[in-house]
Amino acid sequence: MRLSPRFALITGGFVALALIGGCAVSTVGEASASAVQVTASSSASPSPTVAPSEPVGPLEGRTIVIDPGHTGAWTAKWGYRKVPDGNGRKKACNSSGTATNRGYSEHAYNLAQAKALAKELRALGATVLLNRTDDKTRSNKLCVNHRADLLNTNSADLLISLHADGNLGKGHRGFHIIVSKAMDGGKTVIAKSKALAKDLHTALERATSMPRSNYIGKGTAYSFRSDLGTLNFAKHPAVMIELGNMRNATDAKLFTSTEFRTQAAEAITAGVVAYLS
Ligand code: ZN
Repeated sequence: MRLSPRFALITGGFVALALIGGCAVSTVGEASASAVQVTASSSASPSPTVAPSEPVGPLEGRTIVIDPGHTGAWTAKWGYRKVPDGNGRKKACNSSGTATNRGYSEHAYNLAQAKALAKELRALGATVLLNRTDDKTRSNKLCVNHRADLLNTNSADLLISLHADGNLGKGHRGFHIIVSKAMDGGKTVIAKSKALAKDLHTALERATSMPRSNYIGKGTAYSFRSDLGTLNFAKHPAVMIELGNMRNATDAKLFTSTEFRTQAAEAITAGVVAYLS
């Protein structure tokens, strides 16, 4: 895992703290042992034992919502009905997502990537909430106008919506990040979402084998939109990451690799840590 200097510093601090925690455990153990000896020989009161403190991760106390885009439980009747898009218009409840040319579906990749990301974030102390944890049950079928509900009701720190694109352009590949221009949280939340997108962009480019998009944002790999309910209804920072282009054979190969999914999860986690620091 390649880390940004800032993240390395934070992780370094975390490791140092863990080591201090380890030292504290052993010190307390030794102190208790000598206290027992003293008690046995002189009947003095034993020293109060100090509970060893748990190491604190850089995301301790943070709540992060992951939205694995789409769902394997999609049906036309459910998906095509119109719901508000959060910007005065209506759009389909949810689309079925794209797939690689070999048939690996986007909803399955999004869920696998979300689980890998949740693991990394939790390892650093975050509370992670997922909009769906499987690819089948009806309870996990969320229209785009409800994808920010967990973020809003929990006043979470941020939401990351995970997707992969389905662009048919020849040679089109790479990740891009979408920020809404019409969020319920207003200008402040839009500005914070842009800052989050920047930290994620830096981390993805630095630490994964997926390059930035060569077809979105004129080489910047940023996309600013106002038609995405998932982001528009957000009252706290939220971004959508299109982790690559499923219709491109090179990107498709990465999506099916556990190694890439771990790499992307670590990079996104580094970006989140950088943003929240
Ligand atoms: Zn998608």
